[in-house]
Amino acid sequence: MANIEKEAMFKITYGLYMLTTTDGSKQNGCIVNTVSMLTDNPKRIVVFVNKANYSEELLRKTGIFNVSVLTESAPFEIYKQFGFVSGRDKDKFEGGRYATSENGLYYLPEHTNAVISAKVTDALDYGTHTLFVAEVTEAKTLSTEKSVTYDYYQSNVKPKPQAQKAEGTKKKWVCKICGYTHEGEELPEDFICPWCKHPAEDFELIG
Ligand code: FE
Repeated sequence: MANIEKEAMFKITYGLYMLTTTDGSKQNGCIVNTVSMLTDNPKRIVVFVNKANYSEELLRKTGIFNVSVLTESAPFEIYKQFGFVSGRDKDKFEGGRYATSENGLYYLPEHTNAVISAKVTDALDYGTHTLFVAEVTEAKTLSTEKSVTYDYYQSNVKPKPQAQKAEGTKKKWVCKICGYTHEGEELPEDFICPWCKHPAEDFELIG
């Protein structure tokens, strides 16, 4: 078996995007890092979504979505609000002020430099994830701010974990992907990060 270094895989660059979907009436939003342009003519994009996300189900159901391209000014609150809770339990757009594109879906009017609307044409099953291929139906530039990269988010947006021992005998693990902290006697081997859905191996003991 060939050597596959996990760290080598982390060298791939990604952006961060808010993905807006709908169940037909209620809208949902989540944060994804995997949006790419597939073809220029016609304009097609791809997005891969973890099946643990409610958005994956909605994309298969209704097939329309918006991608808001997040910028470096996007505060951690946006990632928290849209990335770390499930739309199954909560209306994530409740109470906020959002803009609407021609397809009727919301997008982020701030901390976003472009919004791309698309319609799913193919959904390919890859086990844990579904790869959606979609045709772009509308695309507009919103600002000249720089798009945020996943690396920028990790270094400048995500709060730094506090490396200190918790009260009592409890130990603390932090998710290296999203910053979620797990406290307890142990970190179960089959533990799944409730925020980003990464497994126990992406956690590190901090105290
Ligand atoms: Fe996580």
